[in-house]
Amino acid sequence: MEIQTMQTSPSTQIVNVGGFDIGGPEFTVIAGPCSIESHAQFLETASGVKASGAHLLRGGIWKMRTSSTAFQGLGTSSFDIVKSVCKQLNMSLISEVTDIRQIEEVYDLVECFQVGSRSMQNYELLKELGRQKKPVLLKRGLAAYIEEWVKASEYVTKGGNNNVILCERGIRTFETATRNTLDLNAVAFAKKNTNLPVIVDPSHAVGIRALVPDLAYAAAAVGADGIIVEVHPRPSEALSDGMQALTLQDFEMMMRKLEKILVAIDRPLHKVTAHAH
Ligand code: PEP
Ligand code: MN
Repeated sequence: MEIQTMQTSPSTQIVNVGGFDIGGPEFTVIAGPCSIESHAQFLETASGVKASGAHLLRGGIWKMRTSSTAFQGLGTSSFDIVKSVCKQLNMSLISEVTDIRQIEEVYDLVECFQVGSRSMQNYELLKELGRQKKPVLLKRGLAAYIEEWVKASEYVTKGGNNNVILCERGIRTFETATRNTLDLNAVAFAKKNTNLPVIVDPSHAVGIRALVPDLAYAAAAVGADGIIVEVHPRPSEALSDGMQALTLQDFEMMMRKLEKILVAIDRPLHKVTAHAH
């Protein structure tokens, strides 16, 4: 990557996930729980976000937790839940793989592989994802330079998989009032200097439920191609990241305001059209 040399925006690689083009004229909303906790919890969340206009689902199967004693995700026990909920709602799932072996295990369950912040420099994982036919959502590392993030994406694209979406999810700064600091510079910069779609994760960026919608609006205004947001029907009961989870009501309200902002910047939301699984 040539940092700060490019004067014009390169044309964006459009990445299709579950029938929705990410990086095209429309804005994409990915929503769901941090972790898939049970069939009831995932179905309730997914139905709710779908009703409010989400295009794609998120939901952790394997979780990268700071503490080894924290909930690590249902793992293989969530496979049947994913199958049934995605089929019932006709929606596709984006979920994190933390290890090469998991790629094959979830290949038929997910439409896009997420690489978490803590794995951004797991180059063997990136190389293996470069050999896959499904898109990759590459989160920026907790303290990664934009250059390191973009170079990490090249491990995937070099392998032949050009379907990479960059995701800014907040970086570690001196500030401790919020979980991380959303780097909107990085979004504008990556849009101008790479040909990849860029989305924002306001949930992990700020870590505080009440502030998530405002950062989602900022993401839209700065030119992000979409957002990925954590939602839980009862955040106080969440097994991970409850503090930053929007309730279904919060999500609904956020979507209504987001829609207005997107109209103002001539960037419509994708129409929610059913696709065949
Ligand atoms: C997540 O999406 O739940 C997650 C763990 O994100 P990150 O890798 O950005 O911390
Ligand atoms: Mn989370």
